[in-house]
Amino acid sequence: MQLAAAMARLGTETAFDVLARATAMARAGRDIVNLGIGQPDFPTPPHIVEAAIRALRDGHHGYTPANGILPLREAVARDLLTRRGIEVDPDRIVVVPGGKVTMFFAILMFGEPGVEIMYPDPGFPIYRSVISLTGAEPVPIALHEEKGFAFSAAEVLARITPRTRLVIVNSPANPTGGVVPKAELDQFVAGLAEHPRVTVLSDEIYARMCYDGVPHASLTAYPEIADRLILLDGWSKTWAMTGWRIGYGVWPADLVPHAVRLAINCHSCVNAPTQWAAIAALEGPQDAVDAMMAEFDRRRRLIVPLLDDLPGFRCVMPGGAFYAFPNITGTGMSAGALQDGLLEEEGVAVIAGTSFGVFGEGYLRFSYAASTEAIEEALRRIRRYLERHGIGG
Ligand code: PLP
Repeated sequence: MQLAAAMARLGTETAFDVLARATAMARAGRDIVNLGIGQPDFPTPPHIVEAAIRALRDGHHGYTPANGILPLREAVARDLLTRRGIEVDPDRIVVVPGGKVTMFFAILMFGEPGVEIMYPDPGFPIYRSVISLTGAEPVPIALHEEKGFAFSAAEVLARITPRTRLVIVNSPANPTGGVVPKAELDQFVAGLAEHPRVTVLSDEIYARMCYDGVPHASLTAYPEIADRLILLDGWSKTWAMTGWRIGYGVWPADLVPHAVRLAINCHSCVNAPTQWAAIAALEGPQDAVDAMMAEFDRRRRLIVPLLDDLPGFRCVMPGGAFYAFPNITGTGMSAGALQDGLLEEEGVAVIAGTSFGVFGEGYLRFSYAASTEAIEEALRRIRRYLERHGIGG
């Protein structure tokens, strides 16, 4: 067999490797505390599940339009108007099987050899992986702890070259929980006026997960870039629907036919009952979302001071999502070595920052989408590990 060379350029989410190891260890009888997983530990609210069951009973068994059923795209448009105050034609919305697919399509549309695509580092690993697949050059945007892991508009703008076609931004962010303040977005958008050929992919999958009453600052608020902004959003995180596989993109009108053609070539459409469930998520009661967010906030306030207090660790308070990203350089260990040591010796699954890019060295990602008991137990075990190895004084 001879595979296409591009296959060797495709990366992965190494978080899944850690999870596979943790699962295998648990199966072998080890007591594992898992703070590695990037999904809510809540069930999908029951009225959403019921809507899917009803859709199946009502005979929604067939293909749907490739861009999604109109009632769903209209519901998304209403949600965009209510929450973000923007008017979007439902024909610019393309419903896809998960937030990841909007990202995949956007990068495929712009990436080819000779082109540069910028992406956040540390950031969601699939950005770099797919950019490399296309043969384009991945250009990392380094995110700094001192800025709460928000990107620096000045740094991004300074690195745009005539070969830059696409800039990917993500706020609130995986793996850091960082949030980009509105002032930084203002500066970024103002600077983009000098780069009219650059398109922006804004991954806002965690938009509903902002803390401290700070409203989510979105790139959709800038009409001057609406004709070159791709918005990525979806249901996975907000309504605890990671396994349903549904998300959406809002595309500039010129790009819609390309996105739809990619969908037709790839998956045809998202399964019909999930689309009906997604309407129930948007239009039904939001109390489960509010309760989940209140609980994540409580855990954030629990885990961050505990992490900050560990020898060799320091941790900034994340403004969004459900991740904490402590600096572990004071332990003297690399992120990979500490990740492996904690899993093997203490059965604690967390993810090395290097899984999210080279600028993730010196950090670990903790997901606090886990119970209070799990968080407290993990932190106890980590302290024991550090003490046993005489780390951090
Ligand atoms: N974007 C970011 C930043 C994410 O962290 C994730 C999932 O972890 C996704 C997109 C993909 O979401 P989905 O499960 O809807 O494909």
